[in-house]
Amino acid sequence: MTEPNAGADPTLLQTTAVRDGDAWVINGHKWFSSNASIADVLIVMAVTDPDARPHQRASMFIVPADTPGVNILRDVSTMEHPQEEFGKLGGHAEILYEDVRVPADALLGAEGAGFLIAQHRLGPGRIHHCMRWLGVSQRAFDMLCERATYRYAFGSVLAEKQTVQNWIADSAAQMQAARLMTLHAAWRMDTEGPAAARTDISMIKFFGAGVLHDVIDRAVQLHGSLGYSTDLPLEAMYRFARAARIYDGPDEVHRQSVARQVLRGYSPPPDEVPSEHVPTRRAAAREKFAGILDAVTAND
Ligand SMILES: Cc1cc2nc3c(=O)[nH]c(=O)nc-3n(C[C@H](O)[C@H](O)[C@H](O)COP(=O)(O)OP(=O)(O)OC[C@H]3O[C@@H](n4cnc5c(N)ncnc54)[C@H](O)[C@@H]3O)c2cc1C
Repeated sequence: MTEPNAGADPTLLQTTAVRDGDAWVINGHKWFSSNASIADVLIVMAVTDPDARPHQRASMFIVPADTPGVNILRDVSTMEHPQEEFGKLGGHAEILYEDVRVPADALLGAEGAGFLIAQHRLGPGRIHHCMRWLGVSQRAFDMLCERATYRYAFGSVLAEKQTVQNWIADSAAQMQAARLMTLHAAWRMDTEGPAAARTDISMIKFFGAGVLHDVIDRAVQLHGSLGYSTDLPLEAMYRFARAARIYDGPDEVHRQSVARQVLRGYSPPPDEVPSEHVPTRRAAAREKFAGILDAVTAND
């Protein structure tokens, strides 16, 4: 899906797929196509109807990686997968699609359903990310706690410093919250479906990514220079965690989506005076409950 000029807002996609007889012809420039350089098949999202409403403009296509015109330019080197690690893992490919012809049945689902399909994939995918992040957080947390029990500085083991106790308590509480929120989102998905679970999923996506980052950061800090070194897995976890706040929707976009959903339950009060602070309404409430108040007062 992602292109150099269209990421957080995929309605800006520029890759096109144009119908030509019994084929589709795809042209465009993608990047961050994870694992594309080791995959046999690529799933490409392309605009099929530029005049449709923004979320109905794009469709998805199944494109065999060896189709003429599919030019994998490189695996983009990242914090998590620097160039020297290429070969061991699939990277995030930059790809040029130049007059790539695929048969009509390469269309995945209905024409114009690209965003719908993306949402179906991204919902469970985000829950899955959050589950993996809980596992990584737990491992970093275990390392943090273990180190606190034996590392000695300024007259005591680190476990006796209040700052370290705060880190442990905050991490435990954040992880517990993330775990329960993840379970809740998964339960909602199972019982009410992806649409109902959308806000819960956005909440855990940015909250879980933040917890992952914070717990690993504290574990690195508590291990000092050893934590920063490549002798321990913490620095790799840290690099992995940083991407979590960007892929599958940056934090800010998920927060925006949650806030929009929450705000649907609110509207401006009459005369823009806060509802809880309107003397006349208070007076009306007092009048409404006068009988009860009188009874209470009489009992006093
Ligand atoms: C490791 C990794 C793997 C990835 N794998 C894939 C993949 O397999 N397939 C794929 O299609 N894509 C993939 N991506 C791309 C990913 O989905 C995009 O990076 C993401 O959607 C953000 O797009 P962008 O990078 O273009 O950032 P931009 O769209 O340029 O956004 C940059 C920043 O702008 C800010 N911003 C954006 N919108 C708002 C807003 N509404 N309010 C406030 N701030 C905002 C945010 O801080 C955001 O981080 C991957 C990315 C990474 C890092």
